[in-house]
Amino acid sequence: MEEKLRLLKQKLIEADDLDKAAAVLSWDQSTHMPPGGASARARHMATLSQLAQEKFTDPAIGKLLDELTPYAESLPYDSDEASLVRVTRRRYERMTRIPVAFVGEISEHTAQTYSVWAEARPANDFARIRPYLEKTLDLSRKLADYFPGYEHIIDPLVDFSDYGMKAASIRSLFSELRQALLPIAQAITSQPPADDSCLRKHFPQDQQLAISKKVAAQIGYDFQRGRVDLTHHPFETNFAVGDVRITTRVKENLLGECLFSVMHESGHAMYEQGVRPELDGTPLGGGTSSGVHESQSRLWENLVGRSRNFSEYFFPQLQAAFPEQLGGVTLDAYYRAINKVESSLIRTDADEVTYNLHVMLRFDFEMDLLEGRLAIKDLPEAWKARFLSDIGIQPQDDKDGCMQDVHWYGGLIGGAFQGYTLGNILSGLFYAAALDDHPQIPSQIREGKFDTLRAWMTEHIYQHGSKFTADELVRQVTGGSIRIEPYIQYLRSKYGELYAL
Ligand code: ZN
Repeated sequence: MEEKLRLLKQKLIEADDLDKAAAVLSWDQSTHMPPGGASARARHMATLSQLAQEKFTDPAIGKLLDELTPYAESLPYDSDEASLVRVTRRRYERMTRIPVAFVGEISEHTAQTYSVWAEARPANDFARIRPYLEKTLDLSRKLADYFPGYEHIIDPLVDFSDYGMKAASIRSLFSELRQALLPIAQAITSQPPADDSCLRKHFPQDQQLAISKKVAAQIGYDFQRGRVDLTHHPFETNFAVGDVRITTRVKENLLGECLFSVMHESGHAMYEQGVRPELDGTPLGGGTSSGVHESQSRLWENLVGRSRNFSEYFFPQLQAAFPEQLGGVTLDAYYRAINKVESSLIRTDADEVTYNLHVMLRFDFEMDLLEGRLAIKDLPEAWKARFLSDIGIQPQDDKDGCMQDVHWYGGLIGGAFQGYTLGNILSGLFYAAALDDHPQIPSQIREGKFDTLRAWMTEHIYQHGSKFTADELVRQVTGGSIRIEPYIQYLRSKYGELYAL
């Protein structure tokens, strides 16, 4: 059995090597590649991804999994060996259900859709993208139908990113959260908006990058195993536990864009850097779900980065870096500016209070579309109506309405949005659990000490990689299942004080 296990691991690592080579090319494409490389690069990546897919779905792997499963079930559930067989089997069964030709059809269609969207969005031309989006919806339904027996058609699609979460459970969490959020958002947006002019001065790019890298290192992002590069849409990517990279963008007339995106991506990166090296290169070596991943980025960006304690520690450094721009600004003015709440059209610009409302309306639309209760042709008007009732404002066009996010135009419909809000909910849950164990964490943050918090996350979340599902992690940490209370309590207390609610 040990020999079979060794063989399985070797085959999995070879498949992963090809995936990681494609990831390096993708990172390069988004950071350094000259425009002339685009068409060849698309081909390089397609070839590598296809080879990786073939290697991973090799029937020899299926046979090894069959032979190893009884052995693995006799081992402790949380052992590396049992977890490897269990998690690989789950992924193998999922990947082998989808015909290779169908995978090709999806990638060809989404690549086409993406390039049409890239032109149609700035031109505000929904009619042009509509037939593509209709086909995307068909393909999304077809993909779900390769997994018969689901409770809701979105469930199989959600499984790819947030394994085990179901429409029913997400819907009930989200509606609870919505009921708690709407009155807070309404109470704040009926007040005069916070003044964030101190962030809207000229802040040179090099200095913004320097201070952002400094803060990433302080919270614990390891630059011996990472680096920061510029890109259009910030992301984190990893090729091995020893090479976890992040990217950012800088707006010289807005301090915060670069700083908080670096803290956000550092949160993703610290999760990947914290996985036990023994799991590297296998299906266990990486974050377990998009919700848990996002819990870490949002934790470091918001619960730490936008907290009063962190601001007390960090703002003097920021003032020293930008003495002319921030010399006369008070800590309180800065803290209010970085936590400004307002009704906005664009999800990625939204504040902590309204952000989840943006996500929930997308998730509801995905369910309506997949169920056939909403037609693509009616999406623009439905979007405007729902936006008005939830966020209190109405987009004047589709560009900043239902065409704003890349997800539906560069991928499928279903599975891509729920992770953002699950991540916020989990950030509150995990942070509260860490504070229960170590009540001194907030005062440590005020002194610029982050080791206790990071060590707690490493012990309970990071080191396990994908061994446990999100649900299993939550059970291990809290003894119960996912719930919104800690996150809501966090928002109520922070924004209650900020806006005297
Ligand atoms: Zn993120």
